[in-house]
Amino acid sequence: MTDCLFCKIISWDIESTKIYEDDTFLAFLDINPVNPGHTLLVPKEHFKDLYEVPDEVLSKAGPIMKKIANAIKRGVGADGINIGMNNEIAAGQEIFHAHFHIMPRMSDDGYEMWHGKPYDSDETKKNIAEKIRKSL
Ligand code: 5GP
Ligand code: ZN
Repeated sequence: MTDCLFCKIISWDIESTKIYEDDTFLAFLDINPVNPGHTLLVPKEHFKDLYEVPDEVLSKAGPIMKKIANAIKRGVGADGINIGMNNEIAAGQEIFHAHFHIMPRMSDDGYEMWHGKPYDSDETKKNIAEKIRKSL
């Protein structure tokens, strides 16, 4: 994809700070990290988002994320790691080349986690679960 920023990073037309590379993935430092060491893991082939990533590519991603998460923990002395993936504009996706965020967390970094809201009733909860199961 010629106009995709991450494709240009993968082809080295745009510089990045490499963390990991194999035949299927490249991982590099996010230019605007939530904490130093924040790494993006991207498939080398262009897929827009999670829904487009083939299962055989996705199945390779888990062990690599684990390896990088451990390396970030050791490398920057992180107290914890968040893994994230934004899919579609509503979920905050800005670069439309599928990628995982591997983010070091420090006990005192001050970030708040998601604010969950309880279901208004057990009925609502069951209905939601039923709709999702039917969509699987
Ligand atoms: P998204 O919101 O799409 O999940 O995240 C895109 C991420 O890409 C952001 O965290 C942003 O800081 C990072 N990013 C945007 N442009 C560049 C760039 O040119 N180089 C690098 N290394 N990261 C970038
Ligand atoms: Zn791309």
